[in-house]
Amino acid sequence: MSSDLLGKTVIVTGGARGQGAAEAKKLVGLGAHVVVGDLNEDAGAELVAELAGGRGTIRFFKLDVTEENSWRTLVQEVAGSTGTIDGLVNNAGIAVPGRLGSIDLESWNKSFAVNVTGAMLGMQAVAPRMPEGSSIVNIGSVASVIAHHNAAYGAAKWALRGLSKSAAVEFAPFGIRVNMVHPGYIKTPLNANADPRFLETHLKMTPARRGGDVDEIAEAVIFLLSSAASYITGVELPVDGGFSSHGGNIVVFDALGRPEHLENIS
Ligand code: NDP
Repeated sequence: MSSDLLGKTVIVTGGARGQGAAEAKKLVGLGAHVVVGDLNEDAGAELVAELAGGRGTIRFFKLDVTEENSWRTLVQEVAGSTGTIDGLVNNAGIAVPGRLGSIDLESWNKSFAVNVTGAMLGMQAVAPRMPEGSSIVNIGSVASVIAHHNAAYGAAKWALRGLSKSAAVEFAPFGIRVNMVHPGYIKTPLNANADPRFLETHLKMTPARRGGDVDEIAEAVIFLLSSAASYITGVELPVDGGFSSHGGNIVVFDALGRPEHLENIS
């Protein structure tokens, strides 16, 4: 799969570390020209040094996804006035702690600015440079499809779904696809300080009984970027070990115990 990403230009926001960095690594390995747009210059420089000399190329740009001018500068630097961009991964995201009763307005607005407005500005800036066959992947979350304890994060990730559906329909006649990936729990700096009660409960509610790995998210993103997904647009792909599939009913499965026909499997 995916040799068709050879020579393609792909922007990954928030790609200096975490899941975005794993996506950048795989894309460089496939021969793509990767542009990482991120606020984190130190992590960006480290990644560029690590991936220099790979099959593809990697460049870092300081990008604040919430700033329209920052996007304009990035697109100008990447594509000049006539060049094209084949892929965009709106991966930059922030987790804003706080329950609904206590969330302050500043944090609420910041969550929407990065998690939703950032993707909107990215699509506005990049889509006009995308040739037919291009692909946009917006990174949601399992928080996009369930009630989430961090209300500002969950609400913003739900909003990103609506935005992604609109974009998929608006861009489809131009041959630009827009899809989402919804990661489950993936160990990255984003959740390094997460409440251990959250992690323990989340994993209990995950049928696969483990968190995911950044590479497992990257594989899904690469599939959606590639022409292997050429007729797929407007979809949401959970990569979450089954977390979002059971609607809470995992407790019934657990209560009923191990099925007889699987008794001998260790
Ligand atoms: P990380 O925090 O590890 O990486 C996110 C990167 O985005 C950081 O380098 C960060 O920079 C950068 N960033 C933050 N704000 C901006 C901005 N305004 N402009 C540009 N870059 C910015 O996160 P993950 O890799 O864990 O998450 C990636 C995506 O996956 C996010 O959208 C997240 O919501 C989503 N997700 C993650 C899950 C997980 O369990 N990890 C689960 C579900 C969804 P800096 O270091 O300066 O903050």
